[in-house]
Amino acid sequence: MKVVDIIPYVVTQELDTPFYFSQWEYSTRKICLVKVILEDGTYGWGEGYGPADVIRAGVNFFKPFVLGKSALETETIWQEMYRRSLDYARSGSFTAAISAIDVALWDVKGKLLNLPVSVLLGGVKNPVIHPYATGLYFTRTENLGEELQKEALMYKEQGFRATKMKVGLGIEQDLEYIRLIRDAIGPDMKLMIDSNHAYSYREALELSRRCEAYNIGWFEEPVSPEDYEGYSRLRKQSSIPVAGGECEYLKHGFKRLFENECVDIAQPDICAMGGLTEAKRVAVLAQAYHKDIVPHSWGTWIAISAAVHFVGNLDSNPGRMYGEVPMIELDRTENPLRDKLTSSKIELIEGEIKVPTAPGLGVDVNLEILEEYADNSTNNKSGSKLEVWS
Ligand SMILES: [Mg+2]
Repeated sequence: MKVVDIIPYVVTQELDTPFYFSQWEYSTRKICLVKVILEDGTYGWGEGYGPADVIRAGVNFFKPFVLGKSALETETIWQEMYRRSLDYARSGSFTAAISAIDVALWDVKGKLLNLPVSVLLGGVKNPVIHPYATGLYFTRTENLGEELQKEALMYKEQGFRATKMKVGLGIEQDLEYIRLIRDAIGPDMKLMIDSNHAYSYREALELSRRCEAYNIGWFEEPVSPEDYEGYSRLRKQSSIPVAGGECEYLKHGFKRLFENECVDIAQPDICAMGGLTEAKRVAVLAQAYHKDIVPHSWGTWIAISAAVHFVGNLDSNPGRMYGEVPMIELDRTENPLRDKLTSSKIELIEGEIKVPTAPGLGVDVNLEILEEYADNSTNNKSGSKLEVWS
């Protein structure tokens, strides 16, 4: 069944409450979705993570190389896109465009074969997944500490077993918020920290050592993604597991992370690093290096669903009878596009997600809502707005 059209959509929405993290402040959500249509009208949805307008340009670049190909041949199409861009874009938003098309192809392949993506990937090894709540960003409010405590407690009451907070405002400030949040949620809920590469190796080591008492599940992106040596030194000297990889692309990026002993937990973003086709290869690589995988996930339920199916298929490594339930990142920050754009068959019940059994990814886009949020004008508004894509 041949691909006859590929349509990228950029959707955008201003936020009611801007929020910030260690790098900058966000006031707008902007996402590139991709629809792949086959000759019989069957369609699949994909999503790219990163600057939406650039990804849309990438999708349009790859389109002629995909049209006319069989949608069942996801690896053949992936390889064609990779080779067509290899000479001048070995990572970054072009790879995110490959990812968006690839995810849409897996969705449509599942619909064609009447099978969920997790089964296509090789089988559902983890039918239940524990999402962790990503939130606890910073807002311009009178008493941020109190607000963070309330938010963390809300996640606990919603049944989340783990949550991840932002750090990177300076070590003393970070420690205060870590203490307040740990006090609020008590000792049993997992708490992870993410500095979004705000620190030098020495600063990250100091923060890591001084927050050991708060039982931190992992320290995410402690240093620059370019600083493989800093990652490696920190990991050797800290008792807190080190996580990273949302800025890495393709198997080659993750090979560098693993070879340099940078992380305990790899965090590929399926909609950025090469799609489900390449994420499956990174899962094999992680297994060979004895590393865990908890994917980075952000955006609409298309991206989240891709991650759910991927984690549903992951091997537990090492295997055991009563192993840990695998985790997935579930962003809880304000995102009207995520909440309204898709009809999701994935439900969060008592802190658990069941891998969906519907064909493909198990989500569909509401076209009326898509129209409402679409920003497909060439003269887009992004120049005057900050975009949320991280
Ligand atoms: Mg992160």
